[in-house]
Amino acid sequence: MSDCKFFVPGPTWVRPELLEEMTRPMIGHRSAEFKRLFRAIANDLKVLFATTQDTFVATCSGTGLMQASLVNCVPRRVLVTSCGAFSERFAGIAESMGLEVDRLTTPWGTAVDPDALEDHLSGRRAHYDAVTLTHNETSTGVTNDIAALAKVVRENSSDTLVIVDAVSSLGGIPVKFDEWGLDVCFASVQKGIALPPGITVFAVSQRALDRAAKLPYRGTYFDFLRYKKDADGDSVPTTPSIPHFYALAAQLDAILRRETLEARFERHITMRDLTLRRTSTFAKLAADPDYASPTVSALAPVKDPELVRSEMKNRGYTLGGGYGEWKATTFRIGHMGDIPLDALEEMLDELNEVARA
Ligand code: PLP
Repeated sequence: MSDCKFFVPGPTWVRPELLEEMTRPMIGHRSAEFKRLFRAIANDLKVLFATTQDTFVATCSGTGLMQASLVNCVPRRVLVTSCGAFSERFAGIAESMGLEVDRLTTPWGTAVDPDALEDHLSGRRAHYDAVTLTHNETSTGVTNDIAALAKVVRENSSDTLVIVDAVSSLGGIPVKFDEWGLDVCFASVQKGIALPPGITVFAVSQRALDRAAKLPYRGTYFDFLRYKKDADGDSVPTTPSIPHFYALAAQLDAILRRETLEARFERHITMRDLTLRRTSTFAKLAADPDYASPTVSALAPVKDPELVRSEMKNRGYTLGGGYGEWKATTFRIGHMGDIPLDALEEMLDELNEVARA
């Protein structure tokens, strides 16, 4: 029986063993011990991202990598596919950097349509330095078809890079960096990877490294070429969050060799289906069911969502609030990471008592 009563769509519940890993004594980040830790993590990340290209870890949250991917890949123009609060965040960051930003906007709750992307890009061959895609839009609980969307971009121009936010998908939904032809893909670790927040893992293609090499001003902290140079010597550019490295190494080992990726992805589908089945009498899924996310569900209950959340809180359970445009009408259940199925079932039993009209 676990102590898991925390169902926010990130940060998510963390196994006590992983919290324990974070209390190990410090080592120097230039030591041989750290290099071994770094190498083990980099190798396992390649499996998680399904890539033979470079993988890195940055000490920042996911938003840091949203900015970093623009800094390293976009000298001028970017197309942002916007389908909710987090995909839209890319546009705000790009604008704050003085970039030219176009949006392909999709209504909240629906997925980005590959045909609409194709229509937008046709007649604009090689117009954009990059297109941003959000694998799993956490505000709406929609999973986009990145394979299809990335294919549209790749077929439009080899000069347009594909940047993918996998913050709430990696570790819960398959990501195939090489097969899908991605250039940058990143995820902070407090969601599908189920660690405390504080670091972000990312994969970068050779194409993206070549692009970065052509840009004269990449800043310092987020310079991909510094990451690459140091990673080639099993190191990192600046002092990392070493406790997170310990926990990440242990968690990647558990994901890949104890649970296995296939079983983990299957468990996430089971968690989503269970959540939708057990809430259907008192709440409507706010997203298009064909794209319902395996990691988070935004639900519009018959009762006031804040009342539902506060009554659940009184019973010891934390659920996520509605986000942005959907704040007043929905609440969200994070069913991601290491949440045990029996803990989810117990929470849903209580929710049934609380949320029925
Ligand atoms: N992208 C998505 C899809 C997210 O869900 C979030 C956070 O919830 C972010 C980006 C921002 O990540 P962070 O909070 O780690 O900066």
